[in-house]
Amino acid sequence: MRDVQIHASAIVETDRIGPRTRVWAFAHVLAGAVIGTDCNIGSHTFVESGAIIGNGVTIKNNNSIWSGITIDDGAFIGPAVVFTNDRHPRSRGLPEAAQRYERDDWLLPTRVGRGSTVGAGAIVLPGRTIGPYATVAAGAVVTRDVPAYTLVAGQPARPRGWMCCCGLPLRSAADDAVCRGCGLAYTRGGDGIRRLDTRGAAG
Ligand SMILES: [Zn+2]
Repeated sequence: MRDVQIHASAIVETDRIGPRTRVWAFAHVLAGAVIGTDCNIGSHTFVESGAIIGNGVTIKNNNSIWSGITIDDGAFIGPAVVFTNDRHPRSRGLPEAAQRYERDDWLLPTRVGRGSTVGAGAIVLPGRTIGPYATVAAGAVVTRDVPAYTLVAGQPARPRGWMCCCGLPLRSAADDAVCRGCGLAYTRGGDGIRRLDTRGAAG
């Protein structure tokens, strides 16, 4: 792998890591895992076979990215997030349950959308989708899909507001909002919000 920075104490068994990605101390990346370009894989993070990590993703320390977890470009995973991929887990070594694991339908995929944030210590139950630019607050327990641009918090996590692409909250009681940080404009549409481009068309 060209131009990949791997700390001497990390164990990297995949050959599919893109340029300019950094893998920090004591991380372990299994064969079959895919990691894109320009990522940051924090210390003590485990990436399992079947995990797919896009480009420009930041994964802070102490994470486990299991098989079935897909993290899209530019997403941020805070420290010690708990992902899951099995709704009814049992030990494969338990004779009464072993036959369930001979099939592959136990695995429920999780998708973490482009540019989204999963806060420190959040728990994401299996089979959930976190939409683009959504934010999951620290410590939240995600039991339902999270729509794009939506902030969710609590246990279980519930919608609390909207977030801009840039990561700042959008404060508006009306149907339209403009980010005070970056100036991007949004309007309410359907069940959520959508971004307006500089010409006023939906984007
Ligand atoms: Zn903004």
